[in-house]
Amino acid sequence: AAKSSGRDRVHLFSPALREAARWRLEVATRLRGDAIDQLVVHYQPVVRLDTGEVDGVEALVRWQHPERGLLAPDTFLSVAEETGQIIPITRWLLRETTRKAAEWADRGMDLRMSVNVSARHFSAETLVRDVRVALQHSGLPADQLVLELTETSVAEDPTRAEDQLAVLRRLGVRVAIDDFGTGWSSLAQLFSLPIGTLKIDRSLLAAAERVAAGDTGAVLAAIVGLTRTLGIRSVAEGIETPEHLRMVRAAGCDLAQGWLLGHPMPADRVPTWLEEVRRAGG
Ligand code: C2E
Ligand code: CA
Ligand code: CA
Ligand code: CA
Repeated sequence: AAKSSGRDRVHLFSPALREAARWRLEVATRLRGDAIDQLVVHYQPVVRLDTGEVDGVEALVRWQHPERGLLAPDTFLSVAEETGQIIPITRWLLRETTRKAAEWADRGMDLRMSVNVSARHFSAETLVRDVRVALQHSGLPADQLVLELTETSVAEDPTRAEDQLAVLRRLGVRVAIDDFGTGWSSLAQLFSLPIGTLKIDRSLLAAAERVAAGDTGAVLAAIVGLTRTLGIRSVAEGIETPEHLRMVRAAGCDLAQGWLLGHPMPADRVPTWLEEVRRAGG
């Protein structure tokens, strides 16, 4: 009887679930090994809406998997977050991206570098040291580095977040709140923290688009107005169409990012891309 019930239990797992479990195990094991060497960083331009100049880039990680090809971050980062591997990965990313930004600056391309930091790393003791080491090794001025944190990672423990943000601020790096509009954190609480930039999630853009044509996103404009008052820079994410661009311009956003303005690209494409943009603009 025990034997058959064991076999029955196996049937509770569908092939899809089994595959998901197998994938999680593979990610967890591989990322502990040398797979970190297979990570690559793509860079997506962040553009100033007043002048059209490129203000900086956001670093987005991908995994060049030997059999599966180039994998998007959401296929492996959640596992890395669970296992804690996200910390050494981000430590490596901070080194890699600040080195790249310093190299570009030496060649006359001053680009602010944005790096995504997970909640787990943000609440870890080591973050400040990791940032400091990356800045020291690269020689990149601290104010050229932006750490992107999600709303939820600062809302989890506001008191602790405030202390951590104060330390980062003393280091001179900038902090951006990412994916704004996807969480439900209190605006008052969020804006009481020392943040420099608010990145408005593309879901808010879509919501603004659904509103009647006469009203170009009152919610968007209200949020941007608030950031203005507080001296916070606003970035509109997910600009895919000229209509999106028109909308966020009308709302008064400072910066924008999205496929219309530039896709994420490998590091070696960035200088030629910038050159093309410059030539087209001038
Ligand atoms: P995110 O930080 O919100 O990054 C923006 C995501 O939107 C990127 O997806 C980017 O490729 C995509 N995107 C850019 N422009 C457009 C557009 O016009 N339309 C649409 N639909 N999408 C656009 P990606 O690279 O797949 O990254 C997904 C998420 O994975 C990121 O969202 C971020 O939360 C996370 N992530 C990526 N790289 C890292 C990393 O190095 N560390 C950590 N902790 N998280 C990362
Ligand atoms: Ca981000
Ligand atoms: Ca985002
Ligand atoms: Ca997002």
